[in-house]
Amino acid sequence: MVKIAYFDACVETPEEIILAADMVPVRLFGNPTIGIDKANEHIPPNHCIWAKNILEQAIEGFNDDVKGVITTHGCDCTNREFDIWIECIKLEFLYFLNAPLKRNEAALKFFIEDIKELIKQLEEKFNVSITPEKLSKAIKKMNQVRSLLREISDYRGKMILKGSEFHDLVKQVQKMDKNKALEILESKLKELKTQKPQVEKEIRKILLTGSVIDDTEFIRFLESLGFHIIIDDLCIGTKYFWNNVNENEEPLKALAEYHLNKPIYSTKFPSYKRFDILKNLAQEFNVDGVINIAQKFCEPILYDHPYFNKKFKELGIPYLFVEIEYSRESFKQLTTRFEAFKEII
Ligand code: SF4
Repeated sequence: MVKIAYFDACVETPEEIILAADMVPVRLFGNPTIGIDKANEHIPPNHCIWAKNILEQAIEGFNDDVKGVITTHGCDCTNREFDIWIECIKLEFLYFLNAPLKRNEAALKFFIEDIKELIKQLEEKFNVSITPEKLSKAIKKMNQVRSLLREISDYRGKMILKGSEFHDLVKQVQKMDKNKALEILESKLKELKTQKPQVEKEIRKILLTGSVIDDTEFIRFLESLGFHIIIDDLCIGTKYFWNNVNENEEPLKALAEYHLNKPIYSTKFPSYKRFDILKNLAQEFNVDGVINIAQKFCEPILYDHPYFNKKFKELGIPYLFVEIEYSRESFKQLTTRFEAFKEII
């Protein structure tokens, strides 16, 4: 089956469009075990390493079944990288989906128009027909995926499911055929319902937020230090399944509304609204602390940090900000900072 990959820092790509074209949407992830020499020839050193890592993979070449890539408006790094992709990546189909910066009526209208253009170009390029009926069917399927993920996510709060296991599961779902994903999710939920909580006294319950954190090894590293990710505000996490698309609305409007109404990412405006979401999650899940992770050179998260630092201090919720390298070798150097945070919470 033809795959269309998407390069997206905020999970605002409506996968339903790709599904309705009878193709498989596949989210692109970084690979922390590779070098980025080729990408370095195109991009200066102070560009987000995660985004550069994906460019490196694109230059090396994706699997043959990936016929195109949609880059969805995220931060300046992803947006400007698209200009480089056009110049140096050989793929049948490249599209920049202009997911709006703001959340208002004009932005909604704009987003719908750009999704329409995406549909038109996909139809022309691949000789497919993306009908409202197919879109409605795809919305239903994705809503099932979202509902199951929400239900499974709750088992982190019940101390039954490890944060790393859940992270890995969401990642798999974002890159696999959604029928297969539904089977896996249903079977996982069945299994979880039979399990008992594992309560360890020394564990600290954490709300994890920040940049794209797509290396599950990093979550395992946090767990090895005694943290349990009970809830998150991540694109490989709650942002992917926060709520459902309205099935009773005209499909394109419903899709655009869904993406504009879900919790805002730090790259969008007004990003300070993120704090209210984080505050509510921290209080609802009664977390011991909040950890905010920035990928090296991730400016949107760096800008958020001083505000979060001040606001969490006012609330008396322990908060730690850490900038990380996109490499597993660097984990060890961070141990002391995380251990010190654990000590104080
Ligand atoms: S990690 Fe930060 S800088 Fe990198 S793509 Fe995501 S938002 Fe942009």
